[in-house]
Amino acid sequence: MNSYSMYIDGKWCGAESGETYDGINPALGEPFGKIACGGRADAQRAVAAANKALPSWREVPLWERSALCVKIANILDQQKEALAEILCTELGKPLHGEAADEAGETSAPWHVAAEQAKYFEGHTKPCADPQKRVLTFWRPRGVVAAITPWNFPAAIPGEYLPFAIVMGNTVTWTPAPTAAATAVKLMECIHEAGVPPGVINLVTGPGAEVGDELVINKGTHAIGMTGSPQTAEIISSRSGLKPTLFELGGNGPIVVLEDANPGEIAAAIGFACFYAAGQVCSCAERIFVADSIKDELVDAIVAESKHWKVGNPLDESVNVGPQNNMGVVEKMTAHLNDATGKGAKVVAGGKRPDLPGFFYEPTVLVDFPKDSLVNHEETFGPIAPITSFKDEDQAWDYINACDLGLTSSIFTRDVDRAWNWAEGLNSGITVVNDWTHFWEHHLPFGGMASNRSGLGRIGGRHTLDFMSDLKSIVFNLGKPTVTRDN
Ligand code: NAD
Repeated sequence: MNSYSMYIDGKWCGAESGETYDGINPALGEPFGKIACGGRADAQRAVAAANKALPSWREVPLWERSALCVKIANILDQQKEALAEILCTELGKPLHGEAADEAGETSAPWHVAAEQAKYFEGHTKPCADPQKRVLTFWRPRGVVAAITPWNFPAAIPGEYLPFAIVMGNTVTWTPAPTAAATAVKLMECIHEAGVPPGVINLVTGPGAEVGDELVINKGTHAIGMTGSPQTAEIISSRSGLKPTLFELGGNGPIVVLEDANPGEIAAAIGFACFYAAGQVCSCAERIFVADSIKDELVDAIVAESKHWKVGNPLDESVNVGPQNNMGVVEKMTAHLNDATGKGAKVVAGGKRPDLPGFFYEPTVLVDFPKDSLVNHEETFGPIAPITSFKDEDQAWDYINACDLGLTSSIFTRDVDRAWNWAEGLNSGITVVNDWTHFWEHHLPFGGMASNRSGLGRIGGRHTLDFMSDLKSIVFNLGKPTVTRDN
């Protein structure tokens, strides 16, 4: 079995306790490797290393920091087959589809950070006092704690690490325990590119210990976290006044008005529900369709669900891998039982296939009630819950019963109604006439403020913003404003 180490101060190492835990292949439910099980002491070592590296790293010219990000991106591209293999082994992502997609995209944010940092300008500010000149510029925050989830374990670290280091910060990073081997592979690429010791440190282990230590330790100065609202609430209660960026879960509604064409849009909706076995924050998890076209849409989505084949992720024809762990399987079952107990009907899937590992069949659920768990919480499984509405107020009422708001879609050819829905939907991103997953690395992404999908925005200059402090310098020309002479 392979062993996976942590990376602190430029060196590969085990946990101070010597402990390891088993990495589990979710397609088989069997161990594939031994992973260093770090604890608070290891997180403290990582924070100390990041602080030691900070004074010299922040003095490295921006163009050199940017060039390092490009070098890392190039190595990630050279290593994309190996990355896809570990994504398949550790997450069960279908090797020829989802795993290859993510591995192929892993370098993209490193390029975006490298490029955009060069144009991340400060300003000179006009002011009322004719004697003053005011200019603003960006300074690194210090040591950034990056806490990442398991569902896109190669891509999501790229939303934090390159933006942090290109701005002159150093990083202590902890990945989700069920995605640690992928993090180690990524770290190997970063190491190969020649990152100086201490600039990026990786500590694997339980979030409640390693992650918590990074959050509360006085030696970290900002926290970027992608994960569940529940964990973010704990972090928020422990982080004091540190700046925090939270990218959290969603329960994306899709609204389909009566002028949409069910046959034409079913594949996009299927993709929004079933890709990555439904384990994407931007998944569509609730579909609201006008009564007059409900039956047609349900039939089209049931037909679409048959294109999503569950099975061995090494098999080229498979496009639905396993859920990450039994907890996700149990949540899917609980949400289905809750909805059917309240009158909803399963019209496709609805059970676990007869396979080892943590699989679930792509499921279509019809007529879920407003008070059901699928309407209120993120399911994070391969599920398309559909319900119909007679008038739009009824749809708004259902949708607004949920306090998550990351992504949403509206399908209609009526521009006025599309605009009203897009403006009114309580989510950080609304897509008109396409799936909920659209995003590119330079665009802002995140949950709408005051709901439980997040705080702040990642993407391009928005992440650079978070990774920096805006400093103003006020330059007085001539004598001080107040002297003993005036
Ligand atoms: P999670 O909240 O369980 O864990 C996220 C990270 O937090 C992990 O690294 C974990 O080890 C760490 N952690 C756990 N307890 C902690 C604590 N007490 N203190 C500090 N850190 C702690 O989430 P998950 O199950 O890994 O990921 C799935 C969730 O992430 C879903 O809700 C999904 O929607 C969300 N997500 C959001 C986005 C986005 O961009 N908005 C992207 C991907 C995933």
